[in-house]
Amino acid sequence: MTLISCPACVHRVSAEAASCPSCGHPVAASVSGRGEGVMRVLGGVAGTYISATTLASLVLGVVMFVCVAAVLITLILSGR
Ligand SMILES: [Zn+2]
Repeated sequence: MTLISCPACVHRVSAEAASCPSCGHPVAASVSGRGEGVMRVLGGVAGTYISATTLASLVLGVVMFVCVAAVLITLILSGR
């Protein structure tokens, strides 16, 4: 694995990392056409730099909420 320096704080960061573990600044060199790149683009669309893990947990939370809501609606509808 390659170490590069963070553009914001010059901390040594793995080139595999989506963002700097020290300051959270996105590491541009990590965008290499993988799934993380898509997550980073989504974060950029949102207007703020969201780390891939934060965005993933956010998406997971929304998906979980929708699933629970769907189950509840199904139970309510089938109950009457
Ligand atoms: Zn940094």
